[in-house]
Amino acid sequence: MLPPDRLEWVEGWGMAVGAAGYVWRPSTIDGIRQAFAAARTADVPVVLRGAGCSYGDAALRPESVVLDLGRMNRVLAWDPASGVIDVEPGVRIRDLWRYTLGDGWWPPVVTGTMEPTVGGCLAMNVHGKNNWQRGVLGEHCLELDLLSPGGEPTTITAGSDRELWLAAIGSFGQLGVVTRARLQLKRVSSGLLHVRAISAPDLESVLRLVDEAKERWEYVVGWIDAFARGRRLGRGLVHVARHLELGEDPAAAQTLRVDSQDLPDTMLGVLPKAMMWRLLKPFTNRPGMRWINRAKYVAGSTVGDGAEYCQPLAAFSFLLDYVPNWRRVYQPGGLIQHQSMVPVAEAERVLARQLEAAQRRRMPSFLAVLKRHRPDGFLLSHAVDGFSLALDFPVVAGHRDELWSLVREMAEPVVEAGGRFYPAKDSALPGELYRSTFRSGELDRLQRLKQRLDPERRLRSALADRLLGGGAEA
Ligand SMILES: Cc1cc2nc3c(=O)[nH]c(=O)nc-3n(C[C@H](O)[C@H](O)[C@H](O)COP(=O)(O)OP(=O)(O)OC[C@H]3O[C@@H](n4cnc5c(N)ncnc54)[C@H](O)[C@@H]3O)c2cc1C
Repeated sequence: MLPPDRLEWVEGWGMAVGAAGYVWRPSTIDGIRQAFAAARTADVPVVLRGAGCSYGDAALRPESVVLDLGRMNRVLAWDPASGVIDVEPGVRIRDLWRYTLGDGWWPPVVTGTMEPTVGGCLAMNVHGKNNWQRGVLGEHCLELDLLSPGGEPTTITAGSDRELWLAAIGSFGQLGVVTRARLQLKRVSSGLLHVRAISAPDLESVLRLVDEAKERWEYVVGWIDAFARGRRLGRGLVHVARHLELGEDPAAAQTLRVDSQDLPDTMLGVLPKAMMWRLLKPFTNRPGMRWINRAKYVAGSTVGDGAEYCQPLAAFSFLLDYVPNWRRVYQPGGLIQHQSMVPVAEAERVLARQLEAAQRRRMPSFLAVLKRHRPDGFLLSHAVDGFSLALDFPVVAGHRDELWSLVREMAEPVVEAGGRFYPAKDSALPGELYRSTFRSGELDRLQRLKQRLDPERRLRSALADRLLGGGAEA
């Protein structure tokens, strides 16, 4: 019997899925062991949780111990000469860059929000807007401490136990708890990026611009107006950016200071940003979002087209943190996201089908973001040599089943095209579609490692149960 006072409602970031769980928030490795011991005594699974920024059911599970690692958030060692940092798993991306920027170092891979933890990011092997050039976060990790559910600590590197290394990173917390990570950060000589904005009248040109920019610009990201139809289908804006070189920023000492990176508290200098989501709420419906998407495209393809400017690293990187609590515009039903990765040759056809399917069902995505990816060698890698399209959808009462069925419809051509799916964003993908993207025995290898590290199958999550099915359960 687990203590009832630990029972909490635990949600995915999108607020559309959740479950009650018994939450432990240890601050030490012994505390983690105690949580596993309690779960073993009660014979329930354990699900690991960082900041809970995965959109769906990755960090929750009904009838389980939820091991929240957010309190293990100390920087353990920092070498400003080499840019190597050792952190506990609950250190957030926000903590990381704020700690190191003054010494001229920036995380090589960051997500669109600075809230996720390092442990959660390694478990999902996150990518940034520079996936083509820098790969996934796991490629910048030098060493990990992994604690098995049995309480055994192991230190691994890419060279020491390569099979486990390639599997532990990116297998969404199914093989052990990351209790320490050593990361190599990236040298920067300015706190500013040089940014260029370009508009594109249709999907073919968005894809072409993003592809052409990937070698010359470190960061490349496309935004798509998912409401546009016919010959305008897939129209959008592309933003590219590069770090300023040494000597290019005359005020580098200033721009590298954390306070010059802080996102402003007001919009247009007057409107408190904390209020913004309330102002956006009345527009968070199909006509409102159609209008917002159109206005963004029109502005970006006229006055904004070809604009070049310098922008602080944090403002460019963490655009999604600009409006605090913006996800609340989606209450009460919340939102889901679907992000598929499609090989280059098939991208235009498959992504067009996804946009059209959503429009046909009268469920166009409210926010659509395109990125260029490169493959990596991790066992459950989500990346391919191709493009990803991340699509946000509101979850509206009475239309949930239809939305889940849309996700299936959008996912089927991805499988046929040899693509992959990104589980960090997922809530609704049918497990058999996810599994059918792994065609070279990856899930069997994961199963063998699971048997070695977690023979009791203590570590589970709703996402792993759904997506891995037999792979995790055997
Ligand atoms: C607004 C927004 C923008 C985003 N942008 C991006 C983006 O640009 N690129 C991208 O790749 N992702 C992006 N994401 C997704 C997000 O980065 C990932 O879901 C990330 O895993 C969240 O980290 P977290 O600390 O919140 O982990 P959680 O969501 O709490 O957990 C994620 C997974 O990690 C496991 N886990 C957590 N801690 C540990 C640990 N210590 N050891 C082992 N396993 C652990 C959990 O069991 C779970 O499976 C975005 C999310 C949001 C909300």
